Amino acid sequence: MLASYHNHTWRCHHADGTEREYVEAAIRAGYTIFGFSDHTPQVYPDGFVCMSKMEPEALEGYVDTVQSLKKEYASDIEIHLGLEVEYLYTLWEPLLRLLEPYPIEYLILGQHYLGNGVREPYCGARTGSPERLRLYCRQTREALETGRFLYFAHPDLLNYTGPEEVYIEEMTALCRFCREKGIPLEINLLGLRTDRNYPNPLFWRIAGREGNQVIYGADAHHVPHVCTPSLIRKADAFRAACGIPDDRLLDVLDLGKQDRIRL
Ligand SMILES: [Zn+2]
Ligand SMILES: [Zn+2]
Repeated sequence: MLASYHNHTWRCHHADGTEREYVEAAIRAGYTIFGFSDHTPQVYPDGFVCMSKMEPEALEGYVDTVQSLKKEYASDIEIHLGLEVEYLYTLWEPLLRLLEPYPIEYLILGQHYLGNGVREPYCGARTGSPERLRLYCRQTREALETGRFLYFAHPDLLNYTGPEEVYIEEMTALCRFCREKGIPLEINLLGLRTDRNYPNPLFWRIAGREGNQVIYGADAHHVPHVCTPSLIRKADAFRAACGIPDDRLLDVLDLGKQDRIRL
């Protein structure tokens, strides 16, 4: 892997490590491109605070820090400034206004909550409800239709335990949509590392059949997780078992040429 686009920092309250520590780990690991995509700030109504995101007041420090490291390490590594974002219906436009003044280079979609994200169950919590599965598919599809996302992080986060045929039908439609739009799907290495419900082999066999392009996302929340070759080997074996050939695995994404991305 030459590039890594899904990495967090201490600012989101459930990760640790400074931006500089991540950059130095990325250089040691031999990456040529390293992107930060910490959990976006969101301004919720009624003073609600989501403790797994950076606060809106932290955004400026995040941007300034990444931008100055970008200059400082320019001869060693290409650094990019991104965010992992949820598409929450009533908060979407206010979020774009909040981000607008900053030189954010890319967004990845990580849909951890549905609806408007206020006091909602986490998508990784088990659910047998086909309705919730359909809502997840509808909401993420609507997100991707905005054209704002570089890729879809852990698209299989929803921990659905209901009838399998419903899952296959819904996820086939979602994968097909992503393939038609040219949106890569992320095989999440954090999920693989910690044996979460994702990556879900059922989902990735569907992506295999539908011909999706995929990318690995470290989703590093700790500096030592920036690069782990053994995990990449595990991901390669997982991907092969799901029928996704090497030529559909992306690595470096040309942010400048992503003309479907409107920022
Ligand atoms: Zn996180
Ligand atoms: Zn993440």
